[in-house]
Amino acid sequence: MTKWVYGFGSQVNEGHAGMKALLGGKGANLAEMAGIGLPVPPGFTLTTDVCVAYYRDGRRYPDGLRTQVEEALAQVESQVGARFGDPSGPLLVSVRSGAQVSMPGMMDTVLNLGLNDETVRGLAVQSGDERFAWDSYRRFIQMYGSVVLGISHHLFEDVIEARKSALDLTEDTELSAEDWQEVVSFYQDIVRQETGQAFPQTPRDQLWGAIGAVFGSWMNPRAITYRRLHDIPAEWGTAVNVQAMVFGNMGEDCATGVCFTRDPSTGENVFYGEYLVNAQGEDVVAGIRTPQPMSEARAKPGEISMEKALPGAYAELLHVREMLEAHYRDMQDIEFTVQRNTLYMLQTRTGKRTAAAALRIAVDMAEAGQISHEEAILRVPPASLDQLLHPALDPQAERVRIARGLPASPGAASGALVFTAEEVEARALKGEDVILARVETSPEDVHGMHAARGVLTTRGGMTSHAAVVARGMGRVCVAGAGDIRIDYKAGTLTADGHVLRRGDWITLDGGTGEVFLGRVATVEPRLSGDFATLMGWADSVRRLGVRANAETPDDAATARRFGAEGIGLCRTEHMFFAPDRIGAVRRMILAPDAAGRRAALDDLMPFQRADFAALFRIMAGLPVTVRLLDPPLHEFLPHGDAELAEVARGLSLSLEEARARVAALSESNPMLGHRGCRLGVTAPEIYAMQVRAVLEAAVAVARETGEIVRPEIMIPLVGMETELAYTRGEAEKVAASVDGLDGHVDYSIGTMIELPRAALTADRIAAHADFFSFGTNDLTQTVFGLSRDDAGSFLPTYVEKGLLPKDPFVSIDFEGVGEIVAIAARKGRQVKPTLKMGICGEHGGDPASIAFCEKIGLDYVSCSPYRVPVARLAAAQAALKARLSAEA
Ligand code: ADP
Ligand code: MG
Ligand code: MG
Repeated sequence: MTKWVYGFGSQVNEGHAGMKALLGGKGANLAEMAGIGLPVPPGFTLTTDVCVAYYRDGRRYPDGLRTQVEEALAQVESQVGARFGDPSGPLLVSVRSGAQVSMPGMMDTVLNLGLNDETVRGLAVQSGDERFAWDSYRRFIQMYGSVVLGISHHLFEDVIEARKSALDLTEDTELSAEDWQEVVSFYQDIVRQETGQAFPQTPRDQLWGAIGAVFGSWMNPRAITYRRLHDIPAEWGTAVNVQAMVFGNMGEDCATGVCFTRDPSTGENVFYGEYLVNAQGEDVVAGIRTPQPMSEARAKPGEISMEKALPGAYAELLHVREMLEAHYRDMQDIEFTVQRNTLYMLQTRTGKRTAAAALRIAVDMAEAGQISHEEAILRVPPASLDQLLHPALDPQAERVRIARGLPASPGAASGALVFTAEEVEARALKGEDVILARVETSPEDVHGMHAARGVLTTRGGMTSHAAVVARGMGRVCVAGAGDIRIDYKAGTLTADGHVLRRGDWITLDGGTGEVFLGRVATVEPRLSGDFATLMGWADSVRRLGVRANAETPDDAATARRFGAEGIGLCRTEHMFFAPDRIGAVRRMILAPDAAGRRAALDDLMPFQRADFAALFRIMAGLPVTVRLLDPPLHEFLPHGDAELAEVARGLSLSLEEARARVAALSESNPMLGHRGCRLGVTAPEIYAMQVRAVLEAAVAVARETGEIVRPEIMIPLVGMETELAYTRGEAEKVAASVDGLDGHVDYSIGTMIELPRAALTADRIAAHADFFSFGTNDLTQTVFGLSRDDAGSFLPTYVEKGLLPKDPFVSIDFEGVGEIVAIAARKGRQVKPTLKMGICGEHGGDPASIAFCEKIGLDYVSCSPYRVPVARLAAAQAALKARLSAEA
């Protein structure tokens, strides 16, 4: 016979914390606490298997369940010394839901079950407290009425409110036994009116009604939605806990409370929480009365701490706190009740915490020897570090919110409102803080986004251009704030009735998506202390290298500060949009012949050389991967006649001729068009200039600093061995003509793997490459055959409908894209065991993708500067998990 029911408590204790899947989190931990000798009122758990069987068999309970519940109930009766339904001294129970993970979508708890018109009198006699008995009964009818019978709970609340205002009282606790008795009879009228039936008087009917409601709630819309949002399978089912009641509402020596063994927002090692004297259940969180602090140290004037009000129970609780932390070896979130100065534990679970608290608790516990360094590393969710690395709004600062968009890139920033990238740059040069506000952004705004403190758009989602680029740069971004109107012509932004003009200040919170009026004070992140300690531990266990994607000295410096071990991707074209270069870039593109192109390239060369030199200086001694020109040229084309005329003048072309050149460059599918090494093949002088700039800068910086400079020249969008052989040959010709390379400069030439053909022929390509860098953004596009810029209209639906587990541009698609990366890595190493391999692109900062890179043995990941610490920690966790599973 299947065992459907497990007892917990000091005498019959059949479960433990390892049984969460069967007993649910609450039930398993109640048994665990009882097992280590903590005072847990006895009870029993109906397993999640009951729930599964119930739904499998068309909402029928499995055979044997009723008998097992009767037996378990009898055991509780004998432990408590009271009988369920006994008018002279009734056993009362709570019925509590409890899935494997805590789920707010589930049924609320029903307390004081077992009371009826007779047993309430027995309870009054037994406790010697009429008020308590009737208060408990009215609570029961109220909870059972709303939770099990589905009666709107405000109908009940209204009765109490009416009573209190008639008597001119403010607190529930001031109502007398007679008041509560009358409330009960009103409640019973409500039940009769709303359900057409009397309130159930038979305790066993009450019990099965409540059990049925818990199992029923597993399939209610709230729970279903919650499960979908949190990836919880419906097959898990919920457990039901039935537990003997203890009473926090029996008078001034009683209380109920909720607390954390450490402060969950800062992580500080203090007892943190709230309690209420003479209260029951959810009164503490319901906000009917103001809860009081636990410790005297945290009590403000006028507050009465539990330490002071109930010193005996408090001392016991302190002891419990220590036992629980020592036992679970982590911060706990606990619920307790004090009945006539005796403490009872009603729940414990690992406490939720902020990123800052997670960090501090992990480091504190490791330093106190409670957990190992490895455990500390594994305890901090890498992605949560993102919150800690950016300036945040000062929690004390006043603010006026005018809009809310998507939290596209975290951090807080204030600045003068500006509507064009050009104006951002102009003002930024003068040292002003600016916020760029656009309906949406495009590649030509990138330099303005870079110069801005933050970016605000009124259109687009989490993977819109603005969001992706801003995250990459570590710029604050609020995207898709649809209630804001931007009028470029008038130079105004309208939101929530406020009309702001160019130059007015606004503040963005990219972590929440909020937009505020004026300047709201911010606080800087702290990269020292606990953060530095944990990162140090992480660095000592990780195998993967971590580099940054960076183009500007600013980003490179940030990357170093965050611990990057080089640059994994420098996108040279990002340097082309700056106002002092775009003219030469356009002349290069539109020049009718190679000679014209060379003249323009000669103008660009000094800029490029200086850019590279700046990066090499910052990255002294570390590798810097420079990707040669990649995007389709049309991205740089002039807009409007004025700009076109200027380029035409520079090239001695007529406006018509220039226009014809522009038209000739238009492509129907630029992503798959004339870009990457295809440019290097058709216009070799472009790559020749860039290679020269890289190598000359390297020589200059090597001489200047005496350190070896390590440029890695990377050729993009290679699909065929021949393409790399050709472009590499051209690059080597240039290298042969650069003086001073030997000794000072350790350069290499490699390729990006971002086309399926390249991956499948990686063995051939490897023959010409010193390294592979997997460009997983483009690779995802080309493996799926979809364009990221257009995917916004259907990918989210795929994820919603469960056709894809996640957005493949955020987390690498293991089955397809990952497989092709693995194939290329294997083939590449077969012919060249020393081939250096890494990934660049957004996936380089995604913990799940980093774990994948660890698994297939890549050498490094490269991500945006602000993701570097995330990647360091994720790489450490991946290495530890690999080690643990190898040992297992
Ligand atoms: P939730 O999952 O919403 O926290 P619980 O099942 O933990 O719901 O119940 C909420 C509160 O009800 C508990 O914190 C406790 O105060 C009270 N409660 C539950 N069971 C009992 C009991 N057997 N005796 C006294 N109070 C109880
Ligand atoms: Mg609740
Ligand atoms: Mg609880």
